[in-house]
Amino acid sequence: MKDKDLGILLDDILSGHRMTVAEAESLMKIKDRRMWDIAAAADEIRERRAGEVVTYVRNQNIHVTNICRNLCNFCAFGKPPSDSEAYLFNKESIKESARLAKKRNVTEICLLSGVHPDFDVESYENILRWILEEAPGVDIHTMSPDEISHAAKMSGISTKEVLERVISAGLGTLQGTGAEILVDDVRKVICPSKVSTAEWARIIKEAHSLGLKSTSTIMYGSVDTEKDRAEHLSVLREIQDETHGFTELVPLPYLHLNTRLYERGLAPAGATGRTDLLFFAVSRLFLDNFDNIQISWGKVGLKFTQLGLMAGGNDLGGTMFADEVSTDAGGKDSDFFNPEEMKRIAEDIGRTLSQRNTKYQLIG
Ligand code: SF4
Repeated sequence: MKDKDLGILLDDILSGHRMTVAEAESLMKIKDRRMWDIAAAADEIRERRAGEVVTYVRNQNIHVTNICRNLCNFCAFGKPPSDSEAYLFNKESIKESARLAKKRNVTEICLLSGVHPDFDVESYENILRWILEEAPGVDIHTMSPDEISHAAKMSGISTKEVLERVISAGLGTLQGTGAEILVDDVRKVICPSKVSTAEWARIIKEAHSLGLKSTSTIMYGSVDTEKDRAEHLSVLREIQDETHGFTELVPLPYLHLNTRLYERGLAPAGATGRTDLLFFAVSRLFLDNFDNIQISWGKVGLKFTQLGLMAGGNDLGGTMFADEVSTDAGGKDSDFFNPEEMKRIAEDIGRTLSQRNTKYQLIG
């Protein structure tokens, strides 16, 4: 893309032009100093849509199990049941984690686990109830479309019935995880056992139609191209046009250590800083119906997180008292993000920090 063309395109976007997939693809490919122009335009849109407040949620992860039926090729966390490191929390361990979360004054408990091959809808209902018995009022943020699909198959009921039952059992918000790259040719390589793009979108829309809010995610930087990433954003934008059920986009760069994709020579050693920064910025410019772009500090580290806030990001995600998923794949700084440090990072770029709940209502 020529300099002049880029300037015209960014001016058009700032004036309300809805980007095409081809435009997003070409912006993500830029390799020189013009990336700062894209970041500056994204920062301007961030200012208009999300203001000067940097948000975070006080949350705790509970990794109920690392046993997973999918064993995705990009993941270092999921294990087969026979693995010597495989584990499954029992009822008392889950309750103990929930009590600890309550003591820490979290407003959200995030269950990030493997898709256990034996879990049916009742397994999820039980976990939700055990947590709410110990931490009433907390938003339990869990279950990807893939987990909903698996629970439906295991219980011989529809995905809608699973959603209705877990809502009744106390599910707060749905995880828009398992999206990875919503392009089936890429999914066949990185996560062949997961639901297809169409099924992921169908379940998310079904959840939104029942009143559930969800996050949306992308895991980029493995075997995917810029075009794949742009198409993924397009799927999300279309769903959001229809349901307005996404609370935010959470861009998740691929972390390569201990993953089969990297060990087999299929993927590079993770996304680069340029790729990360341009992805944050282009997603802000492309997703004109999203208010929030989260910078995942557990994946990119604290210093880079601050730069992400200057390239379209407005949210720091959670305090995350435990995050084994990132540490297993070599993520840095992925234990706990102290709100005092978040405040320093936000104020250092002239913004203010505010606590939010899972649905982005400010609470402090
Ligand atoms: S990404 Fe999720 S579904 Fe895939 S192997 Fe890891 S834990 Fe399992």
